[in-house]
Amino acid sequence: MASPGVESSPPHSPPGMSANAPIPEPSPGGFYALHPDDPAYRVFIDSLDYLPPEDIRRVKAAVSFSDKAHEHQTRLSGEPYITHPLAVAGAVVEWRMDGDAVCAALMHDVLEDTGVTKAELAERFGNGVADLVDGLSKLDKIEFASHQEAQAENFRKMLLAMARDLRVVLIKLADRHHNLQTMSAVRPDKRRRIARETLEIYAPIANRLGLNTMFRELQDTSFRLIHPMRSHVLGKALQTARGNRKELLSRILDSIRSKMGEVGIQAQVFGREKSLFSIYTKMVDKHLSFSQVLDIYGFRVVVRDIPTCYLALGALHALYKPVPGKFKDYIAIPKANGYQSLHTTLIGPFGTPVEVQIRTEEMHHVAQEGVASHWLYKDAEHSGADLQIRTHKWLQSLLEMQSGDSSEFFENVKIDLFPDEVYVFTPKGKIMALPQGATPVDMAYAIHTDVGNCCIAARINHELIPLRTELRNGDVVEIITAAHANPNPAWLSYVKTGRARSKIRHFLRTVQNEESASLGERLLNQELKTLGVEPPEIPSAAWERLVKASGNRSIKEVFTDIGLGKRLAAVAARRLLAEDAIPVHTTPGSLVIRGTEGLAIQLAKCCQPIPGDPIIGSIKKGQGLVVHTHDCPAIRKSRSHEPHKWIDVEWEPSPGSLFEVRIDVEVKNARGVLAQVAMAISDSGSNIEHVAMEGDPEKLFTLLHFTIQVGGRAHLAQVMRNLRLIPQVVRISRLRSEAEA
Ligand code: MN
Repeated sequence: MASPGVESSPPHSPPGMSANAPIPEPSPGGFYALHPDDPAYRVFIDSLDYLPPEDIRRVKAAVSFSDKAHEHQTRLSGEPYITHPLAVAGAVVEWRMDGDAVCAALMHDVLEDTGVTKAELAERFGNGVADLVDGLSKLDKIEFASHQEAQAENFRKMLLAMARDLRVVLIKLADRHHNLQTMSAVRPDKRRRIARETLEIYAPIANRLGLNTMFRELQDTSFRLIHPMRSHVLGKALQTARGNRKELLSRILDSIRSKMGEVGIQAQVFGREKSLFSIYTKMVDKHLSFSQVLDIYGFRVVVRDIPTCYLALGALHALYKPVPGKFKDYIAIPKANGYQSLHTTLIGPFGTPVEVQIRTEEMHHVAQEGVASHWLYKDAEHSGADLQIRTHKWLQSLLEMQSGDSSEFFENVKIDLFPDEVYVFTPKGKIMALPQGATPVDMAYAIHTDVGNCCIAARINHELIPLRTELRNGDVVEIITAAHANPNPAWLSYVKTGRARSKIRHFLRTVQNEESASLGERLLNQELKTLGVEPPEIPSAAWERLVKASGNRSIKEVFTDIGLGKRLAAVAARRLLAEDAIPVHTTPGSLVIRGTEGLAIQLAKCCQPIPGDPIIGSIKKGQGLVVHTHDCPAIRKSRSHEPHKWIDVEWEPSPGSLFEVRIDVEVKNARGVLAQVAMAISDSGSNIEHVAMEGDPEKLFTLLHFTIQVGGRAHLAQVMRNLRLIPQVVRISRLRSEAEA
């Protein structure tokens, strides 16, 4: 073993430890800030006797490791830092948790505060310990930016969801508990903030897990830190009251004990003290005076088994008269956190109300320590390895105990421990709950429909990420919007929430209808002109007749139907004119398009028309107008067989718009020829969308397939001219594809 304090060892590695070697016990000199004779340390080591020897060795090494890592840190009180992890580990030992948990408690702050890495912990103490410490550090990173009541429940859920492993939650609670006890050197405002956070977040978690002792202590300490004066006055008053009540208390206690003896029931009987905080909240919430709250005497009767609980109840009801309607059977129907007992209220001497709880030893443990009682009272045979499974079983058994309202409890357990939700932050610190697998798009729509519709990008933890990225617990998500952005149909393939899905669908449908309506109106107008009628000449009665006859609600719906190809413009036009006008044939005008209308007008994939090409269109059912070039081979047959289906279409100038077109460029193989060609294309003001190569680099020629964007035919000609200037270019052709109508 290396001698302690070796200069060359890295700053945070205790001497004498290396990977995979059995971890040696620290020698007396293996301590840094901690003295090996420190009574706190001795007591701690002595309390480890429930652990196997190998675990005890690991725990001792963890003390030394943590001591070294925190060597130069002190608590605000001036004490060496190691006193804190030692106290937290002490609490974990009191719960009789396993070796991994004790080691993790000892090292819970090393990832945050020192240079130690998770990998290093895993190497020295195993993955189990490293995962626990990592989980604890992640919880520390959650910032409780907002303390509004509405947020508290989400914070609690997120905390539990992030923790996954119950041991992490328990160590976290022990950590918070010790921090609260040692607040005297902390600034008052920070003290109050931590105390308030404890009341809102940590105390309810302790309660949910049934850790009653912890729950009461967290509450009372926080109360003292937030309201030192009220707590002081109330504490004094409570002391006095207890003095006054002593006589009556012991009189009732004696009566209950002798009654139990009389009927042959072995029982432990205690007087029960109310916590300061519960007295305070009762006074505030129920507007009661101190004496009204305190004028209730509480007792607890602990017996051997369940039948005896009911026997004891009978005996008590024989001793004092019960208050009707106050009896509750939490044995038959346990509370959500697993709590079981019989509760009854009796009328004691001088009419004093007497509350009694009757329970078995085991129920008492669960009532005091909740989920931790599982470690405390487990049989020694089981190893820590199957802890998770058995924790699950423990929860399961709670479920089975529930004969009544179990569904709610099951829901809670599932949300808390096996979450199907993720909890993420907005940049302002608000928490949002979303289903597992949700993306930034889901979040955008959850914030507001407009945010969703205008969303163009997102940052997760300040980094730009694709919109399809799945969110994870604790992510800070910022949605980036642009005023004129529209939802993308591709979003439908990955959004998780029904809200996002239906909003996207709704938007797309509305847009398509708008565009189709405008196309339909133009088609109808064109048809009317063909018949020699200007649309304004048509009387409104004729329009109304058309709407009625077609079963639509408005003329706009008729236009939409025409635009979508569900109704023929020619038929609608003739119906409009049926009684009012005599058709006069003139030369048909053509429909003018820009080609950028979007969903209502599509440029055919086969011939890819661009402005300048002579074009022709046909209405396809449900798709709107599909535009082809005049010479498109794919439509030749249909044009000669069904000429009535084809409409003359013309381009309307739309400067700045770009259209895709495919060209083939045959080149002589030479170094850098692709780069030259690409350069010539982009120098001509065109964008390359896609490029593919055909041919063997060993051969003389290569065929390059480009998809490029141009403004129209003139622009394309310019691109081709520039390409021809390259000596290696042999041949250029615009591509029309095979078959596709
Ligand atoms: Mn800590």
